[in-house]
Amino acid sequence: MRDYTRIYIDGTWVKPLDGKIIDIINPATERPAGQITLCTAGDVDRAVEAARKASITFSRSSRQERVDLLSSILGVYTKRQDDLADVLTEELGAPKKFAKEVQVGVGPFHLQTAIAILKRYKFEHPQSDRTVIRREPIGVVGMITPWNWPINQLVVKVFPAFATGCTVVHKPSEVAPFTAHVLAEIFHEAGVPAGVYNLVDGEGPTVGTAISGHPGIRMVSFTGSTAAGIDVARRAAGGVKRVHQELGGKAPNVMLDDADLVNAVTANIYRLMRNSGQSCNAPTRMLVPFAKMETAKQIAKQVVESITYGDPQTDVYMGPVVSARQWDRIQFLIQKGIEEGATVVTGGTGRPDGLETGYYVKPTVFADVTNDMTVAREEIFGPVLCIIGYKDVDDAVSIANDTVYGLSAYVQSASEERANSVAARIEAGVVFINGASEDPEAPFGGYKMSGNGREWGEIAFGEFLETKAVIHRKAA
Ligand code: NAD
Repeated sequence: MRDYTRIYIDGTWVKPLDGKIIDIINPATERPAGQITLCTAGDVDRAVEAARKASITFSRSSRQERVDLLSSILGVYTKRQDDLADVLTEELGAPKKFAKEVQVGVGPFHLQTAIAILKRYKFEHPQSDRTVIRREPIGVVGMITPWNWPINQLVVKVFPAFATGCTVVHKPSEVAPFTAHVLAEIFHEAGVPAGVYNLVDGEGPTVGTAISGHPGIRMVSFTGSTAAGIDVARRAAGGVKRVHQELGGKAPNVMLDDADLVNAVTANIYRLMRNSGQSCNAPTRMLVPFAKMETAKQIAKQVVESITYGDPQTDVYMGPVVSARQWDRIQFLIQKGIEEGATVVTGGTGRPDGLETGYYVKPTVFADVTNDMTVAREEIFGPVLCIIGYKDVDDAVSIANDTVYGLSAYVQSASEERANSVAARIEAGVVFINGASEDPEAPFGGYKMSGNGREWGEIAFGEFLETKAVIHRKAA
């Protein structure tokens, strides 16, 4: 049992003022893997005070000092990768190899990018012969993160925040909080000054709301569901805080009629089933020409049925989903798909044979889905694919955009030109063409109800900065 009942404030692991100790459940065994404390608003006050105090010095640190700090974090992070992967598998059920290579691997990927950008970033530039524009740290940032990519969702916020001289009060998800504790240990060992990063465990309605409404916090950076993101923005509005939201998604993958269907369907399935379908940018709606629906079904069935899943301590592609709550919701939505008339190509409700313990879901493919069905509209956040038919390119674009979300989209075509013209018409913050992988310098974020603001790359720095114009009477 891991004991993570202390929280990290002002450079020290302290006992929370108050709160209940809870078990964190390993989704593969359904047994407790460790404990944390569900803290209360008083601990957020302590953390904000520490972050405000630290901000006085840290906001004035030099570029070189912050490059050195991030480089030191990179060194300690690299040393602790196995520890991060171990706790991640316990809290999330992510298979060992995927945990280490991908979930943990994103740390250095973003850290090296942040260091490179920090070295070149223009914090000050002349606007005219008498006006200078300065970019200055916004101050204390509240960060609230989800459970599905617990390292990624924190590092894409915290590295640009450190790089720009901001201090942080962080609440990780109460479902998968362990990795945040190991990251706090890494920051401590790397020499992050006391108060620059503070961690307070707890639930959304208590610690989360205390962060979003706190008068000492200048910005809230939130990743999670759209409903919680709206609540954060409402509470933050009272203090005119800057609000950054990375919310849900229901990504379309448009297969144009000239796409190599075998490769494109296979890639879609592997990308979706990774992390047991629990990714905000997963390609969950696969759009194929009506004439290719039957072929797409056959390919999808064959590929999905070859995916290995089971105990995450073994060499499988997919583990369980994160919690009993998530399992119940996915079952409810699969049942809805059946009731609303989608064709079950493979999978369905219930536990997979031989996996009676652990929150395992049958990888499921629905075909003949129409975009008004619940499975095409709601974020399922599980290993469930919907195949939707379309008449022509205009119809495909209209279905792709017929969603409240706009986080990611995918387009497949033998012609880059055709793919580009469809990409230009899709309302989404990121469009991946022909199986492209992520680019750490490319902005990440959503249109419409998928959020506000962007993470990743240089644009993320600007999110943590205020703009100051210094105007002289005469030419300087
Ligand atoms: P969630 O919204 O339930 O919780 C996310 C975080 O917000 C948790 O730390 C939670 O405790 C906190 N929270 C909940 N209610 C709150 C409130 N009222 N005020 C303040 N904080 C509150 O989401 P989840 O189930 O942890 O994660 C899954 C969701 O996150 C999905 O909708 C997914 O699409 C989204 N997500 C988005 C991105 C992105 O980059 N756009 C990335 C990952 C996950």
